[in-house]
Amino acid sequence: MTEATTANILDGRELAERVRAKLVSRIESLRTEGHEVRLDAVICSGNEAGEVYAASQERTCRQMGIDYRLHHLSEDVSEGAVVDTIEGLNADAAVHAIMVHMPLPSQVRSDLVQSAIDPRKDVEGVNPANIGNVIYGRRSLMPCTALAAMTMIESTGVQLRGRVAVCVGASRIVGRPVAVLLIQAEATVISTNVHTPDLAAMTRQADVVISAAGVPNLVTGDMIQPGAIVIDVGINRVKDPKTGRTRTMGDVEFDSVSRVAGWVSPVPGGVGPVTVAMLLRNTVEAAERAAG
Ligand code: NAD
Repeated sequence: MTEATTANILDGRELAERVRAKLVSRIESLRTEGHEVRLDAVICSGNEAGEVYAASQERTCRQMGIDYRLHHLSEDVSEGAVVDTIEGLNADAAVHAIMVHMPLPSQVRSDLVQSAIDPRKDVEGVNPANIGNVIYGRRSLMPCTALAAMTMIESTGVQLRGRVAVCVGASRIVGRPVAVLLIQAEATVISTNVHTPDLAAMTRQADVVISAAGVPNLVTGDMIQPGAIVIDVGINRVKDPKTGRTRTMGDVEFDSVSRVAGWVSPVPGGVGPVTVAMLLRNTVEAAERAAG
């Protein structure tokens, strides 16, 4: 039997639902003013996981009144043709939100494609101009996973100013944008990576730990300060040695951490659903800005 949980569980599905409910009224206001909210996604054949994600995006968008359009390219498409597609969408005034399903075929450089997206339409926040804007304190569209982690912290009601936050992992898509957003919120930020000599010594100082390393059970209860907020961004597919079944788990050892932390986000059902909600929030925001 496991011991009783003390931490508050940050339910990502419930939070995502609340975010979507607020967006519906913004979508309706735009429609009343004659503006349709639209999301244009680009996908190359052979991306099976992307197709599944796109189908679920389409369903959610339809339910919310967002016009979702998927642009299919072939698996042997040239890099130039992908960039041409993006530039066509950039130039189309009816399009205000663009995303590209990853991974792209090996002959297409993803960073080149991401940089081609008009920063005002870049609802995944993958164009380097958007993170640059945040550093300069300008309004911009931020990477959805980083926004999701911040939204989860916000949902606890704990103010970040004056707190110590530790980011476990410093990737371009999650760890670094999260660190920038935490700095923006005036937290004291420690960014760690695989070469950090004593990770536990860092996390034990933290009021907030955000783990995006992609290492199962990396963050354990003995590494956490009592009452801390622990956000688990990791999505790891792990084979259970007992059952032989593959299951999804995060970076955080949930049982031990939930006995010490004040708040912890589970995997699945934590950051993942909120990330999808952030993509939709960015889409609505891009539409509002386009509408002036
Ligand atoms: P990445 O491999 O690009 O980067 C991992 C980072 O973690 C690197 O900076 C590396 O130095 C660091 N790291 C690895 N081991 C470490 C250790 N022992 N101590 C400290 N730092 C360590 O990964 P990524 O693309 O940022 O993804 C990270 C995880 O987040 C993955 O599990 C991924 O599936 C997940 N992810 C989740 C979402 C979501 O929406 N929930 C989105 C993107 C990525």
